[in-house]
Amino acid sequence: MPLYEYRCDDCQTRFEVLQRMSEGAADLSCPECGGSRLAKQFSTFAATTSTGGSTGAAAGRGAPACGAGFT
Ligand SMILES: [Zn+2]
Repeated sequence: MPLYEYRCDDCQTRFEVLQRMSEGAADLSCPECGGSRLAKQFSTFAATTSTGGSTGAAAGRGAPACGAGFT
């Protein structure tokens, strides 16, 4: 189950939520202020793959291509 990160627009609190792929943010609310204006952030999964350049080692290579081939 993927981990999603959200940021509250009201108090700028960032928090992570485990969600199924098919679920949206409709039922989510900020754990700090209870607000529902949440901005979805890049997950920790995605963040590690697209911001290369800091290390020379190809540590991220070879990850399975999840979801590829779904029709
Ligand atoms: Zn908040």
